[in-house]
Amino acid sequence: MKKTFKYRIYTNIGTTQKVEKWLSLCRQLYNNSLEEKIIAYKERKESIFAYQQMKRLPYLKKAFPEYKQVGSQVLQDVIQRLDKAYQSFFRRVKTGEKAGFPRFKGVNRYNSFTLKQTGWRLEGKYLIIKNIGKFKIKLSRPIEGTIKIITISKSSSDKLFVSFSCEGISDNPLPKTNKSIGVDVGCESFLTDSNGNKIDNPRFYKRSETILKRRQQSLSQKVKGSNRRNKARILVAKAHEKVFNQRRDFHFKIANQLLQVYDVIFIEKMKAWNSFRPLNRSMRDVAWFQFFSILKVKAVYAGREIVEVPAKMTSQICSSCGNNVPKDLSVRVHNCSCGLSIDRDFNSALNILRAGQALWYQPRISRL
Ligand SMILES: [Zn+2]
Repeated sequence: MKKTFKYRIYTNIGTTQKVEKWLSLCRQLYNNSLEEKIIAYKERKESIFAYQQMKRLPYLKKAFPEYKQVGSQVLQDVIQRLDKAYQSFFRRVKTGEKAGFPRFKGVNRYNSFTLKQTGWRLEGKYLIIKNIGKFKIKLSRPIEGTIKIITISKSSSDKLFVSFSCEGISDNPLPKTNKSIGVDVGCESFLTDSNGNKIDNPRFYKRSETILKRRQQSLSQKVKGSNRRNKARILVAKAHEKVFNQRRDFHFKIANQLLQVYDVIFIEKMKAWNSFRPLNRSMRDVAWFQFFSILKVKAVYAGREIVEVPAKMTSQICSSCGNNVPKDLSVRVHNCSCGLSIDRDFNSALNILRAGQALWYQPRISRL
């Protein structure tokens, strides 16, 4: 099994500047390679492939000797990233999705580089990168498996991190409980389960809104390119990071709670995540997409199943008698003529559980 381990790393100013230098060289290579592709297509209707651009890297090093210090694998990865951006653009065009053409990367928009087997080593709590220097790692948990790829990244608040992508990690499934549950997510409560339990939505963004606004305003008043502006930019980034981390920790906590107890968790399948983007801030603050992603990844390691149930009027249908009881979002209680009167989200969670069980426990043969 594969897994990525990410840690904060610390170093001195000189080494930090070298990281910046590498990022800047990678960014230039990315932009130049993109430009080359665009020109070749516009002028000659020719496609330039990643392998062709990689083959020319030795010449790049000759023409621009500053590239000599950067590992070849790092530079190859830059071209592969561009290739990926191209491929996903054409894939989206094909499927008719909204597709943005790969863009040139501005300053502060190219924030990581990747090494494979060579050019780095671990010595206890230290990571040493050839031609850059030494970093102290804050090992918050042990690295498992075999390290295949390492990525050095800089956050928007200028913190440095290393991610180790590892393979061959033994899975560690949790003991079976023979329990399953349906889960409904919403704006009122973050989550309601088919046992009627609710988890409130903590609204981290809203709590930090005042400080975010103040820092944003202070940033907008600083002169572009000035030192004070850079400091203000970091403060804004730190405030955003805080919200992001709080939310992620919350999602991890809830995912763990569910995975400890249930073998199978039924969730509603939400088709177009894109369509959530323009919604109001409180909805963004809830971030179910991130939660479900975490839940799915953690479930794989825990040997649990997450089953997506097609969303078919789960909030309208009565979980007791199956009647259709239309109601708009403002109606918080499901009142049915059969006598059932329960919380709206609880009713949805029961429907998700039922639909999920029908899907999951039907004879395997019909699923083939
Ligand atoms: Zn009913």
